[in-house]
Amino acid sequence: MRKINVFDTTLRDGEQSAGVSLNLEEKLEIARQLERLGVDIMEAGFPASSKGDFQSVQQIARTIKNSSITGLARAVQSDIDTAWEALKDSAEPRLHVFIASSPIHMQYKLNMTPDQLVERAVQSVKHAASKFPHVQFSAEDASRAELPFLARLVEETIQAGATVINLPDTVGFTTPHEIGKMFAYMKEHVPSIDKVVLSTHNHNDLGMAVANSLAAIQNGAGQVECTVNGIGERAGNAALEEIAVALNIRKDYYKADTGLTLKEIKRTSSLVSKLANMPVPGNKAVVGANAFAHESGIHQDGMLKNKETYEIITPELVGVHESSMVLGKHSGRHAFKEKLTELGFAGDATQFQQIFDAFKDLCDKKKEVTEDDLFALMTETMTDAIQESYELQTVQVNYGTNNIPTATVTMKLPSGEMAQEAATGSGSVEAIYNTLERIIEGPVSLEDYRIQSVNGGGDALAEVYVQVKYAGFESSGRGTAHDVLEASAKAYINAVNRTLIRKAYEQEQTNKVNI
Ligand SMILES: [Zn+2]
Repeated sequence: MRKINVFDTTLRDGEQSAGVSLNLEEKLEIARQLERLGVDIMEAGFPASSKGDFQSVQQIARTIKNSSITGLARAVQSDIDTAWEALKDSAEPRLHVFIASSPIHMQYKLNMTPDQLVERAVQSVKHAASKFPHVQFSAEDASRAELPFLARLVEETIQAGATVINLPDTVGFTTPHEIGKMFAYMKEHVPSIDKVVLSTHNHNDLGMAVANSLAAIQNGAGQVECTVNGIGERAGNAALEEIAVALNIRKDYYKADTGLTLKEIKRTSSLVSKLANMPVPGNKAVVGANAFAHESGIHQDGMLKNKETYEIITPELVGVHESSMVLGKHSGRHAFKEKLTELGFAGDATQFQQIFDAFKDLCDKKKEVTEDDLFALMTETMTDAIQESYELQTVQVNYGTNNIPTATVTMKLPSGEMAQEAATGSGSVEAIYNTLERIIEGPVSLEDYRIQSVNGGGDALAEVYVQVKYAGFESSGRGTAHDVLEASAKAYINAVNRTLIRKAYEQEQTNKVNI
């Protein structure tokens, strides 16, 4: 059985999805979960792209011990040097350097001849190999490159010190048959090919990203690049969970498997969906809400007689289980701590206390506190390290079918002072948002509003997502509460606070350039 290395790029390619912007705490939380899932390599960002990206790559490199952390760099010395600064403290520093390899990219994007391009790639890999123990070279747009040229580029970069060669389908253009031929061609025409691990990276523009990844694996790829829930540029990347489960269920056919802890898949998927603010469609393979629901009578009958009649993947395999009561009002700190540790809690004593308080508070409102609820409370606390910003104190809404909804809000301002306001709206949520807008400086425009429950049931926790335009930025926000109106207020304030942090960042960066 061949072992396929999983290279997760949720935090780099996935974060490039339209509308996704993760802050440092959120990236760290995802990185810790990816470590629990057991990914071999984690691409944490593109350190030279911004100060924020540099910082998050550095933090992740210093925190994660059981996965190799990598960062992206263009084939220029300064990008590689910046990436080294961000990654040098990691357990196993790894660089991912890339340059385009197709005629269209060479001619129009880079304005380079093939010889110049090989020269640049070789120099970059040599420079990278003088610092990093592992250097991955990516021939961007490889699926549209000419095979003899690609083989030459690959051979020369291996000679220069690359240890992994990635041949991406950057634009999602190739087919399983073609990608298989490309990998087979390299195996046959690149003399040093056995010195490196071949890697595949596929986009889903034609819906073939997972199929292409599996075809590449069949033809010699030993590493697969993917993202959780398949998020990423345009139509996204190959979905990690689909590749991992396909290899596992069809071991008989592929004769290959990953080293992932598959029962962490569902939780990883939920966390990424929540923090990236990208809901998972119900019919999504492996992790969709309906993936294990059998509706047809004939199927249900078969399932009752023998599960294998219609079920090829068991829900347990990927960590999907009936939500069960885990803790209640009378649970003590010790049992609570044990449960949190099981869920991967990695915070300090203050954060523990915050989660414990929120849990006790929730026990007063909700009969059964499930694992999913605890996970929601934990993520909320761990990713909400925003300081010096607006803080909701109280919210009160007056609503009746025959009167105009009126909201009263008390809020702590960034200065520490308290403010109270009241306003009306055509509905309760609008009344709250109109009131908040009176307290917050400058106009805030609401672009999107979505609500869902953490898991079913009349007393479920509510999660609200909003998208706002504020101070020249578009920002998303999230709020979790037992009451939908409180969750709505929290989400709005969260979006504003995130904008303020981003604004402060841009200010710093501009200053830095001016100096
Ligand atoms: Zn990509």
